[in-house]
Amino acid sequence: MARRIGGRYSVHRVLGRGSAGTVWLGEGPEGPVAVKLLREDLAADTGLAARFAHERHALLGLEHPHIVGVRDLVIGDGDGRDLALVMDLVRGTDLRTRLDRERRLAPRDAVIITAQVADGLAVAHAAGIVHRDVKPENILLDDTAQDGPRALLTDFGVAKLIDEPRNGSTSGVVGTPDYIAPEIVEGLPARAAVDIYALATVLYELLAGFTPFGGGHFGAVLRRHVTERAAELPDVPRELWIVLQQCLAKAPASRLRAAELASRLRELLPALEGLPPLDIRDPAEEPVLPSPRSGEPVAVPATGAGGLRGAVPLVRGAAPDSERSTHTRMRVPGPEELAGGAHGTARTPRAAGQRRAGSARHGAAARRRRLALTVGAALLAVGLAVGGWMAASGGDGEGHDRPAAELSGTAR
Ligand code: ADP
Ligand code: MG
Repeated sequence: MARRIGGRYSVHRVLGRGSAGTVWLGEGPEGPVAVKLLREDLAADTGLAARFAHERHALLGLEHPHIVGVRDLVIGDGDGRDLALVMDLVRGTDLRTRLDRERRLAPRDAVIITAQVADGLAVAHAAGIVHRDVKPENILLDDTAQDGPRALLTDFGVAKLIDEPRNGSTSGVVGTPDYIAPEIVEGLPARAAVDIYALATVLYELLAGFTPFGGGHFGAVLRRHVTERAAELPDVPRELWIVLQQCLAKAPASRLRAAELASRLRELLPALEGLPPLDIRDPAEEPVLPSPRSGEPVAVPATGAGGLRGAVPLVRGAAPDSERSTHTRMRVPGPEELAGGAHGTARTPRAAGQRRAGSARHGAAARRRRLALTVGAALLAVGLAVGGWMAASGGDGEGHDRPAAELSGTAR
């Protein structure tokens, strides 16, 4: 039975369920639409409704062939309850569904989809809008396009609106940590480069079948984003690997801009023609052999080019990232540093080579210590926030490569 939304729209059947609500097939004055009806607890949040109203102009203003257009916002119906986004209807599936089905995409297909999404990002970034939640779930594939599937990025700006803390708590909608840029882990503001990092993570996943830093406990995933280098994928053409690495750089300023990424990827297309999906072993699937001693099966760690451990905690064989230009290092201050501070030298004699309080080098060291403490505090805050979400959603923290929505049991 049809349900009316905000006077102008009616919805008929569920197209999909997400972490923020349910997407319905609907009908509006101009024909069929997709209506995302936000979860009741989110719709009841007057602060969130106000933020949506405030961002109405930005949300409705993004028009691009690779962005799912938002046609309307419904804020409160007769009962003042519904909060809904009315979108262009995309006939097809999302990229997660395609990945689940095919596991890995041929490099050319992966690169075409990524370049299209980068086109959409370029327009949004030029308008000052950061997506903040680029992941396969938010990339829809329009199957009706004549020259192959067309990728469209959805949920622009929605993550920011929903995740904004309310009264000191968070909404309970926290994305999967697999696509989070290292600067976010460190508590820095999410600028356009976070979308590039997330999109490069998606491209890696389309090629490999797993994300570069995902797997295991969310805290381990966050740590890897900051400290580890993505394991190189065998058989990926050198030029493509260089682009991937540039966009997975730890330092946001080292990453390509969206428009540049799109054009660099398109330049590579002729070389990718006819290449089959990569033939690599998923780190989650280790061969099991009988133990020589007990005869019990034991897992054999994947090694060499055929097996990658980049997505598994405490990576064996993966070199820590030592590229200073692209690396943001965390450093935990020692107990004596914590105890000493600027007054340290007044109480303890200064050893040879030790920095003098008040010197330029000492100032720099103090700044580094403050940064390390801030990073530590930020990591703790992220841990607590995600921990709170885990507790709220009843997750066990072991969801490998699954979106938060699925972990919390509300997904499709
Ligand atoms: P959330 O972001 O709240 O997790 P999604 O945006 O991922 O929810 O929507 C859930 C599902 O609804 C998607 O997987 C997709 O299949 C479907 N969907 C979302 N937006 C559209 C749309 N514009 N057209 C068609 N289907 C859509
Ligand atoms: Mg979504």
